[in-house]
Amino acid sequence: MTDTTDKLRQVLDEQGLLTGEDARIRSTGWGHTAPCVALAIARPRTTKEVAAVLRICNEANLPVVAQGGLTGLVGGTVPGEGELGLSLERMNQIESVDPVGRTMTVQAGVLLQTIQQRAEEEGLLFPLDLGARGSCQIGGNVATNAGGNRVIRYGMTREMVLGLEVVLADGTVVESMNKMIKNNAGYDLKHLFIGSEGTLGIVTRVVLRLRTRPRSHCAALAALDGFDQVIQLLSAVDEGLGGTLSAFEVMWEDFYNLITTPPAHTRPPIAHGHPYYVLVEALGSDQAHDSERFETVLGECLEQGLIADAAIATSRAERDRLWEMRDDVEQLGRNAPTFTYDVSLAIADMEGYVAEVRTGLRVKWTDPKCVVFGHLGDCNLHVVVSVGDGGPEARKAVSETVYTPLRSRGGSVSAEHGIGTEKRNYLSWSRTEEEIALMRALKHTLDPRGILNPGKLLARSSDAGETESTWSF
Ligand code: ZN
Repeated sequence: MTDTTDKLRQVLDEQGLLTGEDARIRSTGWGHTAPCVALAIARPRTTKEVAAVLRICNEANLPVVAQGGLTGLVGGTVPGEGELGLSLERMNQIESVDPVGRTMTVQAGVLLQTIQQRAEEEGLLFPLDLGARGSCQIGGNVATNAGGNRVIRYGMTREMVLGLEVVLADGTVVESMNKMIKNNAGYDLKHLFIGSEGTLGIVTRVVLRLRTRPRSHCAALAALDGFDQVIQLLSAVDEGLGGTLSAFEVMWEDFYNLITTPPAHTRPPIAHGHPYYVLVEALGSDQAHDSERFETVLGECLEQGLIADAAIATSRAERDRLWEMRDDVEQLGRNAPTFTYDVSLAIADMEGYVAEVRTGLRVKWTDPKCVVFGHLGDCNLHVVVSVGDGGPEARKAVSETVYTPLRSRGGSVSAEHGIGTEKRNYLSWSRTEEEIALMRALKHTLDPRGILNPGKLLARSSDAGETESTWSF
């Protein structure tokens, strides 16, 4: 491989290729502590350099693992022994902002938070938001079709991308930098690459759609005594808030207790003892008017008995504290070792699903912990399980307990985190044979030598029978 490394060195600058100890000490993903076993890490600065790297790798049949901010949760950025890590971290420029057309053109390595801040400076909003905003890169957000906290209002990353540039496995650069909301001239190719987890091409530049910046911000925490009430509250606030509802985050009691008891910093804004807690948020245009409507809608829900108790944030600091509480997922580590799941299913099926998972766990383990929270309006639940054993056999058994009740309900094994290596053995639990065959056909067409993130998302024949990794958080 030194021959290939030499060739790579010729097309990159001095800092463009890390090898030996410099590569070994690189992180490969959040929660991954093992040393990086990649042959090298390429750090191109331009699309041209990405293309040159891929041409060399394709000719040498050298696998390439694209890397963004390394905040993914499914192992998609971990290079195998002898593979090349391709980091977009040096392609970190915001190229242009068009305040009239409301677009921002960026390179793949720009941090999400940098994009959010720049949009705000322009009096606009880039609505994608997730806990990893300060470390994740937009190229990774696009490649994984990231979701986050405001999907109910603005959709997933897919809805925020107008155009992109992608480099194919053989080095071909496909510029599809559309800036218009409407463009039906043939297949919308960007969607092939959004959510493809680095298996079909390397996203190098993106045209993002910006939105009006909200001028008002309302948030409240509500406690509810039954799941039917949660469903009714969702429709009451959706209807009552006139299209301004921007988050509906549901916390099952055990998650709420975890994030509001020491060592967590937050004290409970509403007393413990209710089975469900919901963080409701609305983004609008007139603070006085919107606050009044927000309080009226929640007041009516309280009167009707939909809500058992509520705490409405009256300042920005209080709103921020509610979000900090909801985002304090670090507390899940108190139950370590844990296995984390990211499922989606119809809202009406959720109560029965969670009950079935809990029963299934109790049949197999004594005192299992199953902590549930999620973006309910998006049909997305995060399920975090601990059974006192972090080994691969336990993980497999827990996965089957969590995924089996999804199959009969037509749910998905991944709502927003993607498949990577962690869930590839379960892809067929959520997709039909024909769907997977079409995915494989697309993969073969775009990457005939299979150099792009091999074994991620779609298993190779050599991966068959392999158990899940022991990675968890
Ligand atoms: Zn989430």
